Amino acid sequence: MRPAVPTPSPVFRFAPTPNGALHLGHAYSALCNRRLADETGGRLLLRIEDLDRTRCKPAYEAAILDDLAWLGVHFDGAPRRQSEHGDDYASALGRLEAMDLVYPCFCSRAEAARAAIGRDPDGAPLYAGACRGLTIAQRRVRLQRGDKAAWRLDMRRAVGFAARPIAWLEYGEGATGEPRAAAPEAWGDVVLRGRDLVASYHLAVTVDDAVQGVTDVVRGRDLLAATAVHRLLQELLGLPAPRYRHHRLVRDPGGDKLSKSRGSPSLAGLRAQGATAETIRRALGFAGEGDPEVSVALS
Ligand code: GLU
Repeated sequence: MRPAVPTPSPVFRFAPTPNGALHLGHAYSALCNRRLADETGGRLLLRIEDLDRTRCKPAYEAAILDDLAWLGVHFDGAPRRQSEHGDDYASALGRLEAMDLVYPCFCSRAEAARAAIGRDPDGAPLYAGACRGLTIAQRRVRLQRGDKAAWRLDMRRAVGFAARPIAWLEYGEGATGEPRAAAPEAWGDVVLRGRDLVASYHLAVTVDDAVQGVTDVVRGRDLLAATAVHRLLQELLGLPAPRYRHHRLVRDPGGDKLSKSRGSPSLAGLRAQGATAETIRRALGFAGEGDPEVSVALS
């Protein structure tokens, strides 16, 4: 008989961005994470993704903490706030720079969009790579005279550097994982550090998942395609690959994905109209049958 190998207990995370109020989609994600952590004897960590200081507000963070407590989702340990960890992202970017896999890009958003060569999986303009061809001397001159730069990953070189096909284990909402091939090339030369942002979502989330020891990333299907970039960055930086579960999205009765920008009803708003945490949990399938009083459709 083989000796039992102790498996470390799983670590999950819920990672809201405090740029608005939580809606039912966030509640679904937080409840999925909490349930999986409870079922597996794991821990659930909270990460506040507040790097974008123009859109993220402490008042939103306070409201999010309040909503989650009201919903009955508790966390194990203190939250990690991205805005307090700029050094971690800078050191990851420095490593990629030492590997010659990143370059400064001086194009404005509008310039990059005008010269786009297509769309990335999120529908954003795909960067044509104008600044990729600048010489080291040209880059130095522009940086020294203070031109604003974003830092982009040289995708072709990065994929070549990784040197082998990249994949991840995708569990969806099931019990067994399926290997998924990652196609990060579809994202082009992604931004890792913005002109005014210490790290992009892709870089910050990859570094944080590793720093927090996350073994299981549970988040919405809208982030599935981005996982290819995160897996590539993990390979380049020598970070462990978590398991991934991309869950279904909560949709409004018209079939659209809930979103802050579309003005989907917030949890706080539903609460003000008399919904209880129990009503919300039931509607989302976390306590017996869904409640027909709450109009949400899951797809
Ligand atoms: N902060 C992201 C959001 O609120 C989630 C990021 C993630 O789970 O990887 O949509």
